[in-house]
Amino acid sequence: MPVPPPSESPDSIAARLDAVRRTIAEAAAAAGRDAGSVTLVAVSKTHGAAAVAEALAAGQRVFGENRVQEARAKWPDLRAGRPDIELHLIGPLQTNKVKDAVALFDVIETVDRDRLAEALAAEMARSGRRPRCLVEVNTGEEPQKAGIAPADVDAFVAACRERHNLPVTGLMCIPPADEEPAMHFALLADLARRNGLAEISMGMSGDYPTAIRFGATHVRVGTAIFGVRPPPG
Ligand SMILES: *Cc1c(COP(=O)(O)O)cnc(C)c1O
Repeated sequence: MPVPPPSESPDSIAARLDAVRRTIAEAAAAAGRDAGSVTLVAVSKTHGAAAVAEALAAGQRVFGENRVQEARAKWPDLRAGRPDIELHLIGPLQTNKVKDAVALFDVIETVDRDRLAEALAAEMARSGRRPRCLVEVNTGEEPQKAGIAPADVDAFVAACRERHNLPVTGLMCIPPADEEPAMHFALLADLARRNGLAEISMGMSGDYPTAIRFGATHVRVGTAIFGVRPPPG
């Protein structure tokens, strides 16, 4: 039997993307939501241009990267001639990388401290580019994890909007690895609602259907699309 081309193999990125899209549609329908209300952010961190090109060929347009330097090396070529791509920063942002981040990304999901908000505001004013900003919330209040404590979210969002004039459009969280994510998703959705924020980024390969049940508008899925990543070296 001839070997099928990659796009038809069940393990291909196109096939996995298809499966993830179907799961998103099913989870949305089960929650009484429109499948179009959930955006799939394909997390391409550590994967090279060939893998991203496969996802692009399969129609994927929204991608997430967790490191500014990696995105800077990978994306300018991939983006050339494709104005409909939307790139999200989903990893920690150091203030000395703010200039690159504002130039490269359309959404910065990890605004997590006042000094960063201030630096982003200054760079946006300087460059005229205004990527949407999501505030990262440390829903599990884990000491080693980035993010604003739930009790401080209202004040931080207000400061980002009023003091820094940042285009804050939503919240994101990464629940503790060893806990049921549902209550973290419910908490994030509640914090977003009461701050009038429309975008809720939560859910990864292991739990995105649950996140959709609790109101996720953006799910960040890597492994289920691109396969297992090599361990960080
Ligand atoms: C890597 C990463 C993801 C994707 O995780 P998978 O389990 O591979 O789907 C989502 N969000 C953030 C913040 C990440 O760093």
